[in-house]
Amino acid sequence: MPERQDPSQQPLSGSISIGKIFGVPIRLHFTFLLLLVFLVVNGISDKQSGPFTAIYIVALFASVLLHEIGHTLVARHYGIKTLEIVMFPIGGVSRPERLPKGRQELFISLAGPLVNALIAAALIIWLWVSGTFVPIQLLKEPTNENLAERIAAGNLLLFLFNLLPAYPMDGGRILRAALALRKPENEATRIAATAGRRLAALVILIGLLSGNFMLVFVGVFVYLGAWQEGTTARGRSLTSGFPVRSAMITDFRTLPHGASIKEAADLLLSTSQHDFPVVHGEQVIGLLHRSALMRAMMSEGPEAYVSTAMDRDFLRIPPDTDLSEIIPKLSGPASVALVMDDQDRLLGLLTSENLSEFIMLRQIGQFQRS
Ligand code: ZN
Repeated sequence: MPERQDPSQQPLSGSISIGKIFGVPIRLHFTFLLLLVFLVVNGISDKQSGPFTAIYIVALFASVLLHEIGHTLVARHYGIKTLEIVMFPIGGVSRPERLPKGRQELFISLAGPLVNALIAAALIIWLWVSGTFVPIQLLKEPTNENLAERIAAGNLLLFLFNLLPAYPMDGGRILRAALALRKPENEATRIAATAGRRLAALVILIGLLSGNFMLVFVGVFVYLGAWQEGTTARGRSLTSGFPVRSAMITDFRTLPHGASIKEAADLLLSTSQHDFPVVHGEQVIGLLHRSALMRAMMSEGPEAYVSTAMDRDFLRIPPDTDLSEIIPKLSGPASVALVMDDQDRLLGLLTSENLSEFIMLRQIGQFQRS
């Protein structure tokens, strides 16, 4: 399944940890329980025993997990760590710490579906050699006898489904990476994302017409993914090649460390700034976020010092960092970063808001690549 292109360091909310494989935390999204219920209800029949139903479910789960491990191991080969693998009802999602480039993306994306193809091939060969292959049409009814063949069929489906040439499916990434070998990257992304949205719309339509709500669900998931990734990728290509200093806010206010919460609140109202660097002389000692200011106002009152409410562990970035590398960091919980040189001097602020303004201006074409 897709890899999420949002490498913020936080674990995905609404998921629980179920262990680690190759040092990568595996998490279960709460909606996964819905799938379990569905599989158990569907798996119950006169001809399949309880243990076989359990084996079937565990085998499919393992197949999806192995698919993600495939992505993880090839990514690791390129030195890209996987932050976590989250299991969703319609597949797993691995989150790389950074985005793969060019051919790396091609091979990382191929690795997942390839794992399912190998599992299917191994099972089919074994069934064939042992002479236990049953006609495909008999697979509709789960029995103990056709268990292995159903697992093979499941893997074949995973293989084909993930190879759909639509962002954010693996096939969409393969398409994008292949296109990017010949075309500019943003054009390749645009084509793959458009293909993703069209295919998703088609899947939703088929689902609605046939009354198959699982298809509608899958279609909506793919559509949102394609849309989000298209936007992320466009932002990335529009900011790539520009240093942070070309987008940062240089006209900003700071608070002395002895300032009170009341003074900070006054500054919040009189300026359009939400976050204030707290300084001690020339030195920045913290960052006061609006939310922390509000909390301190409620719990400590207006006379408290800002230094008790500020964040000492704020995000700092050098001025020459490529803007495109900062996007994922600013889309996480920290929506502001302080731009500081190597002597720890404060040069500016970068917020997700002015980053998106920069992207808007770039879209209009007001900036030229320097
Ligand atoms: Zn995948």
